[in-house]
Amino acid sequence: MLEGWLSLKDVPAEGREFSFETNENWQEFIAEFNLKFKILIPLKLDLTVLPQKKGFWLKGVIQGKVEFACDRCLEPAIISFKEYFEFFEEKEPAEPENMGESLLRFIDSHYELNIFQLIWEQFLLSLPDKKLCQEECKGLCPKCGTNLNLASCNCEKTTGDPRLSIFRQLKLKSK
Ligand SMILES: [Zn+2]
Ligand SMILES: [Zn+2]
Repeated sequence: MLEGWLSLKDVPAEGREFSFETNENWQEFIAEFNLKFKILIPLKLDLTVLPQKKGFWLKGVIQGKVEFACDRCLEPAIISFKEYFEFFEEKEPAEPENMGESLLRFIDSHYELNIFQLIWEQFLLSLPDKKLCQEECKGLCPKCGTNLNLASCNCEKTTGDPRLSIFRQLKLKSK
């Protein structure tokens, strides 16, 4: 678990806004989780903390820019993201076994929030499922490996528009 604690000691009842821009050792974490991407600019978090009787409302925006290998063509794909989130973090988790995953700790008679873990979790949640260099990426030819965004190849297309395959059959018959 990543640790970086923010004291919530002086957060007033009406809440408080925080802003972080962090260049922490995310790349180490990425390697540890065996994830394949690069963080290009510091992750930025704007966070509002609202104290409640039983916990804290946490809402904010996480943004950043990462580089992946495109899911289809494996070329670098740059993805910018900006995601809103909002959730309630309980002071005492209902399930004691969830204690270890809590973002809060109670120390010297006040609560602290694990801001690094929060940033990391929200960052991972904000990444898109499909990571493409462009929406219409044509990918690689499954036969010869040509990047079809850059060039075409002469491999026979076994899949594709079924109407075209009927057309091909007709052409064969007329020969
Ligand atoms: Zn691509
Ligand atoms: Zn090909």
